[in-house]
Amino acid sequence: MALDKESVRDALSVREYVEYLGIQLRRVGNSLRGACPLCGGSKRATKFSITGERWHCYGCGESGDVFALAQLMERCDFSSAVKQIAGIAGVAPTVEYDESERKRRQQVRAMKERDKQKRQLRERQQAETSAGAVWEHLALESESGRRYLAKRGIWGLHGEVRFGKNSVCLPLRQTDGRITNVVGRYIDDRSPKIRGLKGCGTLGMFGDFRKLDVTTGPVMLTEGLADWCSARLLWTERLILGAHGGHRMADITRMIAAQLKKRGRALMFVAHRDNAGKRATKAALEAARSEGLLDENLFVYWVQGNDLNDELREP
Ligand SMILES: [Zn+2]
Repeated sequence: MALDKESVRDALSVREYVEYLGIQLRRVGNSLRGACPLCGGSKRATKFSITGERWHCYGCGESGDVFALAQLMERCDFSSAVKQIAGIAGVAPTVEYDESERKRRQQVRAMKERDKQKRQLRERQQAETSAGAVWEHLALESESGRRYLAKRGIWGLHGEVRFGKNSVCLPLRQTDGRITNVVGRYIDDRSPKIRGLKGCGTLGMFGDFRKLDVTTGPVMLTEGLADWCSARLLWTERLILGAHGGHRMADITRMIAAQLKKRGRALMFVAHRDNAGKRATKAALEAARSEGLLDENLFVYWVQGNDLNDELREP
């Protein structure tokens, strides 16, 4: 809390302060005289003199204004002396100063936050711009990758799946086909989660939505990478889309809902009957309904067993 020293000075005169200290003052000419609160003296002493708002002691040689006296009395610094005098005078700290300072700090914080968001957006845009190039440079073939997929009954996706060092990769696309991330699943299962390019957003989907009009039947939306691959093999005439994790199914539903609605196309969620799958499907159905898709165009395909393509797996 800040104090305006001028208003404090106006609130308590030197005379009032000295009297507050217990000194009796007597008028002598145009000054007030009494014992010095600093160097003492008897009640009848006249060494201490006040003229206007200045004081002077002929004994100890000190002099000054009300704050100088408080500093010497309290053996403190200037601002503490102002507080001391304000306390005696009953002056409240001024709030105007604090308010403007608070607002200024708030503005600085808001500006820093805006700069941070701008920087993050710029970094993300740069990262997303490079995602397409990263995808183009991934290998089309990989022996270990092919074996990994074959074990899961997945083969021959001819470039739709590509290979990084020790990983099987898919692009995340926007509805216009633009690639904004590349995600990979590690072949050795050391890190079972699929991971995307650093700095890129994960709001995107597996599959190319631009193929909507050259496919028939319901659009299929799977929970993840492996199911997307399996569904591509099982339903070749359909548009297969996939989420980067089940929790993204609702987001993708919102991305595509308007165009599905316009064309009267059905949407079928492909999900596992575990808790995560049920939760993801519930959220996706809610998103679809809130976007105006009709129940008659919404379906759920519950995956039987462990995997969508269990029957296609190598024995
Ligand atoms: Zn003195």
